[in-house]
Amino acid sequence: MLCLALFWVCTGCGLEPKAPTEEPAADPTVASTAAPTAQRTPTVVQIPTDTATPAPYGHELLGESWEGRPIVGHRFGMGPRKVVLVGNIHGGTEKNTHQLALEMIAYFEENLDDVPPEVTLWIIPTANPDGLANGTRGNGRLVDLNRNADTNGDACPENDWVKDTYTTEGINEGGGGPQPFSEVETQLLRDFVEDAEVAIFYHSMAGMIFVTSCADHVASERLARRLSEATGYPFPAEGWVSYPVTGAVVDYLAQQGVAAAEVELETKVDSDFDRNLAGVRAVLQSLDQITSSP
Ligand SMILES: [Zn+2]
Repeated sequence: MLCLALFWVCTGCGLEPKAPTEEPAADPTVASTAAPTAQRTPTVVQIPTDTATPAPYGHELLGESWEGRPIVGHRFGMGPRKVVLVGNIHGGTEKNTHQLALEMIAYFEENLDDVPPEVTLWIIPTANPDGLANGTRGNGRLVDLNRNADTNGDACPENDWVKDTYTTEGINEGGGGPQPFSEVETQLLRDFVEDAEVAIFYHSMAGMIFVTSCADHVASERLARRLSEATGYPFPAEGWVSYPVTGAVVDYLAQQGVAAAEVELETKVDSDFDRNLAGVRAVLQSLDQITSSP
């Protein structure tokens, strides 16, 4: 059977001599001397050139979570000024922020003109895909990604990174991780957002806006005020007072000069899409006022 099969295969593989009339018509340079071949047109291969226009939007794999899930950035526009929205950092306990980011992505795919030409808008639907999949606030190692940043370089010892952190449920032992930026997800955020002018992180459900708890970072405060005007969420001067917040990403980013704010949705259910779209559009139109020197 084997020999028969091999023989059968080889009879169709082109090793036999071909009839002399078969080849010329495949070559367009000699087609005119052959019999009429109106239906045989040469294949034209398009060669990409350097002048091809890059797509105005797309998405990129930025990295992987502890458990190997993709962390993706959706890009809108081509401008030099980088604005980043991080839809979800607290995983499955704040699922509606992920939903909000997906709705924002769908909106900007249809309304690219809302992104000014000098801006590239990035939307990361979730920086914590493990928490989202597992239904946890922390990542795959149960580290709270918004308590894992290195906030020890600013003037406020009270926001310095610590191992044991807090949530509304009380103390979260080991929530800060073994050391600052120990987690692949926070390393990714640090490296991706550090060169942005503006970064907005979505949470739920305090229904307020927060910035770094340390010192005055004028650009972050301007960002928060602009967001507050457009969304209607208050921006309390006293910040978050219910428990100590340490190792927060916005505290780290403000220290790096990035205008950074946290927007807390009103509930754990609704995405609050309309008011948050209004907030993002207002920010995109006000970048100069937000980031200009004091
Ligand atoms: Zn949160």
